[in-house]
Amino acid sequence: MTELERKVMNIDPPSEFRDRIASIDDSGKRKWVFPLKPAGRFYRARIWVSYLLLAIMFSGPFLTINGRPVLLLNILERKFIILGMAFWPQDSYIFVLATLAFIVGIILFTVLYGRLFCGWACPQTIFMEMVFRRIEYLIDGNANKQRKLAKQAWNIEKILKRFLKHGIFFGFSFIIGNTLLAYIIGIDELFNIILDPVSEHVTGFSIMLLFSGMFYFIYASFREQVCTQVCPYGRFQSVLLDDKSIVVGYDFVRGEKRGNPKKNSLDTFGDCIDCHQCVHVCPTGIDIRNGTQLECINCTACIDACDSVMTRVKKPIGLIRYASHTEILTGAKDRMDFRNIGYSAILFALVFFFFFLLMTRSDVETTILRSYGTLYQELENKHYTNLYSVKVLNKTFDEMPIRLELLEPKGDLNIVGKTLVVPSQDITEGAFFVDLKGRFLTGTETKIKIAVYSNEHLLETLKTSFSGPRN
Ligand code: SF4
Ligand code: SF4
Repeated sequence: MTELERKVMNIDPPSEFRDRIASIDDSGKRKWVFPLKPAGRFYRARIWVSYLLLAIMFSGPFLTINGRPVLLLNILERKFIILGMAFWPQDSYIFVLATLAFIVGIILFTVLYGRLFCGWACPQTIFMEMVFRRIEYLIDGNANKQRKLAKQAWNIEKILKRFLKHGIFFGFSFIIGNTLLAYIIGIDELFNIILDPVSEHVTGFSIMLLFSGMFYFIYASFREQVCTQVCPYGRFQSVLLDDKSIVVGYDFVRGEKRGNPKKNSLDTFGDCIDCHQCVHVCPTGIDIRNGTQLECINCTACIDACDSVMTRVKKPIGLIRYASHTEILTGAKDRMDFRNIGYSAILFALVFFFFFLLMTRSDVETTILRSYGTLYQELENKHYTNLYSVKVLNKTFDEMPIRLELLEPKGDLNIVGKTLVVPSQDITEGAFFVDLKGRFLTGTETKIKIAVYSNEHLLETLKTSFSGPRN
């Protein structure tokens, strides 16, 4: 809501929420957020979505395609496997293009649908709200009980609850840290670290503890500050969102002037009864009625809370809902307009482009160079030869016999020594002669074309030049 809109609607403009993030007090100290446990249709839907995403994430390291991991991002050894296909540093152009496509995709997605990703699919939200927060509700109780427990002196109950909660928190952090590690080093290596004596995997064991400690710190202590202070995506919201972006928004046209009509019957009120349930339930501690804020992770908890209040006071639900600022202001339903269709089409094209790059990537990479410092050799009957070096990178998991064939012009290609065979995920180097008749030479540098075959399957064709005498 803009200042002008507030004035027109006779709303006292709160402004202090802009001075600092909601979980920091006037003195700059952290205010611990005790959100009420959400309940409602969106929360139920998010629980099911989180089950699905958690199942995918935790089963990922165990899933294989043709005996290879579905996803392995071994940065240390520069070994990357995506959907069972091995990627090498030579494929980095795919990652660069994929990263660009990803960034553009994120921008377009956010312009259209706001922070939908944060609320429904971001691992931070899923773990915090759907795993750790639910464990906390189970052990410490709802917000009021948590607040009371935090304030009370250390007694047996508090010690037991804290011990139990933090023990489980560390256990889950250990599982999450190990899952992340499994995506980096592979599940077999992870089990080696777990099962072998620590002395055999000091580095791996230290990283395992570091990851577990990091996740424990995030979910036991740092919490919503990841979204409000660390995550760059949240910071970009102010430049990515516009009036037509669909966000979790408060319908100020319908809701204001907020207040309880029973207490002040002379005034005219909107539908918001100022019960603060939407604030109490917010995991980042904000009041969505102040408008879209960078702290809002679009978790929908306030929608559920307000819908339940509206049902109780017998008013239509949706005072807080997914809507664009324009929809709230004008009352016109958000529709797929030209901009939305255009952006969605570009998004789709980017996803398609990424998969196209993945699927059309070559299994081998061959480099052919004329041997350094050599010129042509003249043989009998006006035949000329050039010596070349060849390097073949095999990106697959199978050994590859390689056959080279001169396609243009007519001539012979003879490998020096044994046939080229490239072991799986390895590089083989060799040398070969190209023998051309003088009549096929077009000058001192003749273009030639060489085909690379494996098991009679054409892998790629390469062009290089053939050095000959001046005519
Ligand atoms: S929950 Fe709904 S009615 Fe209650 S304060 Fe929030 S917006 Fe107003
Ligand atoms: S304002 Fe609503 S949607 Fe945004 S973080 Fe708070 S509860 Fe979630």
